[in-house]
Amino acid sequence: MCDDGNVTEANGFAAYPYGPARNPTTVQRGSVQFLSTYPGDPTTPGYPSKPDSPRTGIEAVTPQIPSLPLSWVEAQPLIQALDGYGTSGEGVNRTNWVGAFNASYSTGPAPGVTLSLSNEMEENTTTIWDAIGIINGTSQDEVIVIGNHRDAWIIGGAADPNSGSAVMIEMSKAFGKLLATGWQPKRTIVLCSWDAEEYGLLGSTEFVEEYIPWLSTAAVSYLNIDVGTSGPNPDISATPDLHEIAIATMKKVVYDNYRGFNNMTLYDVWYGLGGEVGVLGSGSDYTAFVHNGISSIDMGSGGGPADADADPSEVDGKLHSRTPAGVLLMLS
Ligand SMILES: [Zn+2]
Repeated sequence: MCDDGNVTEANGFAAYPYGPARNPTTVQRGSVQFLSTYPGDPTTPGYPSKPDSPRTGIEAVTPQIPSLPLSWVEAQPLIQALDGYGTSGEGVNRTNWVGAFNASYSTGPAPGVTLSLSNEMEENTTTIWDAIGIINGTSQDEVIVIGNHRDAWIIGGAADPNSGSAVMIEMSKAFGKLLATGWQPKRTIVLCSWDAEEYGLLGSTEFVEEYIPWLSTAAVSYLNIDVGTSGPNPDISATPDLHEIAIATMKKVVYDNYRGFNNMTLYDVWYGLGGEVGVLGSGSDYTAFVHNGISSIDMGSGGGPADADADPSEVDGKLHSRTPAGVLLMLS
């Protein structure tokens, strides 16, 4: 089994950019910073990063073993060269280390096999920019913070984060039109376009670290959007106190033309897909809010492992009827 499910070249899908299967040279991008313990600027752990902030060493918040992500086409000869030497992936009871290569995913060392690795890194201190918009509410001691990051690993960043940014911008426009009519919300709304999320949640974490005295008394909740849309399957993760309102809200949102089905709410689709609110750990800009005890939710929609399979009846041979409307939905 590989991470890509059925959507592989071996199963007849063309590789990107000609089809939905992974291109063999694809490299996973991400930060190896210890985001679940010290997100943000690694030189200012726990306090805001300003031009004159004292800076600490980064040893406690970044790994000491250098690492490089590889594409599978680059990793394959390395895994094959070690095959059968040392301890296998199964031998150390790490079956999720065992991928789709015809190999035992062994640790080595293998006789006569050496690897020379160069890791070129640039260490810079540079300025980042959060863009913050504030709509004052009539009750200014209660604040809702809504955020989405703006930086992307790659040029474009169509799904991550710009599909979420599109949601933020459209929502801002809607608020603008409401404000023009004289409307004012009860609670203050803070709209945040975070910078440097991909490097280690820097923009959001430094914001929280700077404004925590205010946020800890005023923030009612933080709503995060990151990959707003990379497929049709809705997905939410939240702190437990927001489960009820999230589910109630989904029941009010019409979600038509889901894989050709109509007359459904967002709740119907979400429930049909399993209906589980995920747990927030780390990995996006809600992290610093959650770590500081602020209720948070992360919302988006993605594709299932069989998403490229256009005919639902062929996906896993099961149809599921869990929605109140009795609409048949596929678990994917
Ligand atoms: Zn993102």
